[in-house]
Amino acid sequence: MTLNVPTMLAMIVITNLVMTIALWVVAYGREIPGLKSLAWGMFANTGIYALYGLQGTISEWLAVSLPNTLGSLVVVLFLRAALQLRGAQLSRVWTLLPLLAVFLASTLLLEHRAARIIVVNAVLACQEGSVLWALLRHGGIGIGRGRHILAASTTLLMLMFAFRSLAVALGWLPATPVVVGGVLPTVTYLVTYLAVVFIAFGFVLVATELTAEQNRRLAMEDALTCLPNRRAVLEALARHCSAAQRNARPLTVLLLDIDHFKQVNDHHGHPAGDEVLQRIAHTIRQRLRAQDMAGRFGGEEFLVLLPETAPEGGLTLAEALREAVATTTIVIGDKVLQVTASIGLYGTEVCTADHNGDLLVRGADAALYAAKAGGRNRTVMG
Ligand code: GH3
Ligand code: MG
Ligand code: MG
Repeated sequence: MTLNVPTMLAMIVITNLVMTIALWVVAYGREIPGLKSLAWGMFANTGIYALYGLQGTISEWLAVSLPNTLGSLVVVLFLRAALQLRGAQLSRVWTLLPLLAVFLASTLLLEHRAARIIVVNAVLACQEGSVLWALLRHGGIGIGRGRHILAASTTLLMLMFAFRSLAVALGWLPATPVVVGGVLPTVTYLVTYLAVVFIAFGFVLVATELTAEQNRRLAMEDALTCLPNRRAVLEALARHCSAAQRNARPLTVLLLDIDHFKQVNDHHGHPAGDEVLQRIAHTIRQRLRAQDMAGRFGGEEFLVLLPETAPEGGLTLAEALREAVATTTIVIGDKVLQVTASIGLYGTEVCTADHNGDLLVRGADAALYAAKAGGRNRTVMG
């Protein structure tokens, strides 16, 4: 089956234009990584099929070589967009190299259609492969279904370009010009049409997923110290309690409160107080083991969760933490500040149904109160 070429060209041009406009509307006034590169890619894609449609009325170079080079530019822009999604940039070499290769091949081989199709499509297939690599490689954009849609569309395009190159190289199909109907152009048009729609959709989905993930992270993070906030640390505590109850495992929590912190603010100003909080948060984070978690529980109060840790073990860690805080020196301007902290510890060797988060935190709070009453800069086990 072959489809009517002018109709397909018109459909692709219209779809690309609509997608370009839609992407610009989504990206307008916002910093969504990669979206503008993608919109430019869609726009360049519009140009390709518009030029194909003008074949016969414009020069052969404009109707063939320029669209080929634009095709390479489209994939460069898609690669750029895919890299930007994970905060990476496309190097100048990888931007220019494929463009130059396709430009030279499509210009020098203008009169040799078969050779041109073989070379240009082979380069384009490799370019799509690099997009796929950017989408799938370890540490790439990590979430959701949007990425799978993007990867599937890219694979489709890569296979299509590889097929075009191979089919002509091996003589399976004649090197039909794209504006003449036939199997090769029909497959090309259909795949391009579907891929464009799916890539735009997949990309917007990925960008939305990334934004949602970012918001979720922000909602769980304390803005000043970058530690998990009260909500996050309490949620984690509930999870650890359930796990420890299920498996009858130990669990200990610490409440660490900076001593006389109000005086730091009063004597050195609120910004200095903020700086102290950041440094102490850093000290706590550095001292903890991988399985432990600390969160900012309130103003100058930190809740530390020690899963798989009995109270005695927790005491050793609490003392190490207290000493680390006491020996942290904080330089602010020409002043060197030092603070101490009091720690309330509460835990159990075997978590039972009674040991919920509330009970553990209340136990630690009572112990903290005793530590303050006992003179501060000390750990009390509840
Ligand atoms: P104690 O030894 O009994 O814990 O005395 P304290 O002064 O540390 O405790 P208090 O509860 O009297 O004061 C806590 C202070 O922490 C008061 C508040 O202004 C300050 N604070 C809370 N959050 C922040 C913050 O984000 N930044 C700064 N700079 N100060 C904060
Ligand atoms: Mg305090
Ligand atoms: Mg306090």
